[in-house]
Amino acid sequence: MAESYGQNCNRCGFCLSVCPAYQAQGAEDTSPRARIQLIDFFADHKIASSEKLKDIISKCLMCGSCANICPSGINHPERYIRMREKMIRDHGDRPEIKSLVYLLAKESRIRMAAGAAKMARKIVPDVFASKYKLGNIALKQFPVLNTVPFRTAARAEMEQTPGQRSQGASDLAYGRVAYFTGCATNYFFDDTGFAVLEILRHMGLEVVIPGTQTCCGIPMLYHGGREKVKSNINTNLACLDAQGIDAVIVDCPTCGAALKNDYPGLAKAFGLDLDRANRVAEKVVDISTFIMNYARPGDVVQNHEAVRVTYHQPCHLRNHMPAPGSAQALLNTLKGVQYIPVPDMDACCGGGGTFFYEFPEVSKGIAENKVANAKATGAELWVTDCPVCRINLGGYLDDAADLTVVHPARLAAQFLPALKGQKG
Ligand code: SF4
Ligand code: SF4
Repeated sequence: MAESYGQNCNRCGFCLSVCPAYQAQGAEDTSPRARIQLIDFFADHKIASSEKLKDIISKCLMCGSCANICPSGINHPERYIRMREKMIRDHGDRPEIKSLVYLLAKESRIRMAAGAAKMARKIVPDVFASKYKLGNIALKQFPVLNTVPFRTAARAEMEQTPGQRSQGASDLAYGRVAYFTGCATNYFFDDTGFAVLEILRHMGLEVVIPGTQTCCGIPMLYHGGREKVKSNINTNLACLDAQGIDAVIVDCPTCGAALKNDYPGLAKAFGLDLDRANRVAEKVVDISTFIMNYARPGDVVQNHEAVRVTYHQPCHLRNHMPAPGSAQALLNTLKGVQYIPVPDMDACCGGGGTFFYEFPEVSKGIAENKVANAKATGAELWVTDCPVCRINLGGYLDDAADLTVVHPARLAAQFLPALKGQKG
């Protein structure tokens, strides 16, 4: 008999209480326990592969909340990845998603596509950009591509202003760190990248931004590209396992979760260097946690003009990273920040990688409440660590909104008056 992965589901229903896809749609076949049961039926040849089955398995945000609460220890996302691979093999994927997987497999392709998209955006009239939508998000609301990829610009800046080791550097447990920027910071959100860089250098650290790093591979993995991801993993592990690197800093929870949790298992499955994967995984830390653990008094805790801030906690941070409360702790530490929590702070935003584009109606149902609740706080800044959450939530905030979505590092960097002063 075929392996029956989900036989330990006791049908308790705990996973239903945390599943954003189920809560937005309400039907049993949109629940985590139904997906697991269907995967079992498929494995046991009780049901056949079909477009309908593919749709049910795909209509999930891969947030991991079900696995986090499941008393039977079922790892839902891991099983979904395997099942998606089979469904995509049998029924194909949307051409634009297939293209995305193709692009992410090579950094040179991503760079070329980003350049083409930048040129295309320049010639698209604003009236069209306001009307044409990717999912629910008007093209006009999409982040503008960086003028120069962040990693290129940052290395040039570091060459111009090398070595900012401060006197206190020896107090730190870490002296030399690698910054894994992810694709979003490299191509869209260089404000996050420069803020991270500024903070780390202000803390007296030597920062290395490996030039050969590439996409962490998670979007490929979620879209049937398991075999394609091997080369990305190998490339990233090789450049991050350099001698003398004390920590690997990430600004994106999905990249962080990949490097910390997924790479060792995948490295083993692919016959890559497992010791290397474990060495890198041990060193991965998100920027907010790093600041909270290693900033000296005076590094980022400064009086500052008052600013009202609320926060959205990304699912991949909450469910996959070791210290998911660090960004909130940071907000509570920064003197001048008036942190206004929202009750649904940890509810999924409906972004889910490409989910917001593939299933806009479901995504909209999830996002709209969050946006209304965040606006009701009266905050000026909506802080979140994940670039997809930022794109998705920011997509619902037009130019007239008084709320702007930013990364925690961007806010924290404003609390470095000494460094700002030096720059004049
Ligand atoms: S929480 Fe786990 S055991 Fe309970 S219904 Fe969901 S999958 Fe089954
Ligand atoms: S990963 Fe998230 S969206 Fe998908 S089934 Fe689990 S809880 Fe629901």
